[in-house]
Amino acid sequence: MTNEQLQSWVEEISLHSFGIPFRHQARFNSRLKTTGGRYFMKTHHIEINPGQLEAYGKEEVEKIIKHELCHYHLHLAGRGYRHRDPEFKALLAKVKGSRFCQSLPGRATRKSIPYRYKLVCTSCGMEYLRKRRVDIQRYRCGKCRGKLSIIELLPMIGKSRRAK
Ligand SMILES: [Zn+2]
Ligand SMILES: [Zn+2]
Repeated sequence: MTNEQLQSWVEEISLHSFGIPFRHQARFNSRLKTTGGRYFMKTHHIEINPGQLEAYGKEEVEKIIKHELCHYHLHLAGRGYRHRDPEFKALLAKVKGSRFCQSLPGRATRKSIPYRYKLVCTSCGMEYLRKRRVDIQRYRCGKCRGKLSIIELLPMIGKSRRAK
């Protein structure tokens, strides 16, 4: 999906679910890591993590877009646009948006984040799987206290169990 297609998709969702046009810019940002989407208060732009689309499909991303549009419309209307505001909660429930903004939605609860890094002991070859990047300078092999090297694994959605 291109940025242009995302833009018209967001405009469509805005009109359909909120009844108000989205007049700013929506684009993908691949630097968003654990965030599904983001609303910028200064520019009123919305950014969406493209990895979400690959991993969870259009249905989940539509919920993220709705979440960001809740921030957007409430903020522009001078209403309670923060997560803790009752107006935000009410609007989010009404349009059935994703409850998550800062973390991955749906299946991507903490438990099921796939292993993305492999630590390999440079002395004994012992391997350790990690879900998040770790600073290998700060850790040693649990078996022999040897130095570790880190390898980034390719995303294996749904196959993380096998990697155990
Ligand atoms: Zn949010
Ligand atoms: Zn070792």
